[in-house]
Amino acid sequence: MSATVIDGKAIAARMLAATRVEAAALTNEGWAPRLVSISVGDVAAAELYVRNQSRQAERAGVGFEARNYPDTISLEQLTGVLQGLNADPRVNGIIIQRPLPQHIPVKALQRAVHPLKDVEGMHPASIGNIVYNDLALGPCTAVASVEILKTLPLKIEGLDVTVIGHSEIVGKPIAFLMMGLGATVTVCHHMTRQVSVHSRQADAVFVAAGRPGLVTGEMLKPGAALIDIGINRIEGPDGPKTVGDADFDSCAEVAGWITPVPGGVGPVTVATLMKNAVLAARMQMEHYREAYRAAE
Ligand code: NAD
Repeated sequence: MSATVIDGKAIAARMLAATRVEAAALTNEGWAPRLVSISVGDVAAAELYVRNQSRQAERAGVGFEARNYPDTISLEQLTGVLQGLNADPRVNGIIIQRPLPQHIPVKALQRAVHPLKDVEGMHPASIGNIVYNDLALGPCTAVASVEILKTLPLKIEGLDVTVIGHSEIVGKPIAFLMMGLGATVTVCHHMTRQVSVHSRQADAVFVAAGRPGLVTGEMLKPGAALIDIGINRIEGPDGPKTVGDADFDSCAEVAGWITPVPGGVGPVTVATLMKNAVLAARMQMEHYREAYRAAE
């Protein structure tokens, strides 16, 4: 194996420590950052994520309240709940846990969260801001993936980057973020004729396709950075296990750096969520202070 395995947990720990300092400063000013997590129906599917977010919130000094609603709740009722949270100055960020029951379209809920409380960075306004290189509250996984690349000794200006996967919340925002940093970006998706033609040219490859084993070592330029965002549950010889979109062993032979799954992008994504919680609380504090000044 030649690649350096990137330690996502260590990057996350540094981010959480910095966020804790910010959270303490805000608490001193009477703006203790606080998140509310909303899940609907069967809790088991989202429970693992909620528990993990709650633990990391505690590490970052961010308040965390998990709310679960029965799957009989209507979209209108849930939107009403969100409007209440939007108006409550003691709530600084709202997380919508997935999966949601079929009658609750996730996009409708994401739109109902006030952009200043959109800590997941999934409101159309937050996604759109990325095009303008305004990164106030960016989508957590995309921001985390780019933050990981930034820790490597690579000059990002002019870097050739290939992004595999073009979803609204991961692939597309990564492409815009990297363009904003001066990289030359190629985006591949399920209709791309030959992904390897593009991935082999790249100094850095991001993959977010949800296809285990999609990227193999022979698809990489020797020494390239590989950021694997995929999370897939597969049957291994010793039972079910979580893997990314890269065939780790063959990629690690060729790449210069590689993120493991688990332990790569995942922990940095949760740390980014906490960083966004603190950013959101600060933006709201400033928003309210400006409103009071204007009213005086
Ligand atoms: P998605 O299903 O919305 O999009 C998948 C993308 O991959 C599409 O753009 C599709 O065109 C592309 N694709 C599919 N098959 C392909 C192929 N054979 N070749 C090239 N491109 C192909 O998925 P998503 O929401 O972007 O998530 C992608 C993966 O990332 C999933 O495994 C998901 O679990 C994971 N994910 C991880 C995190 C994290 O925090 N690490 C967060 C979100 C999503």
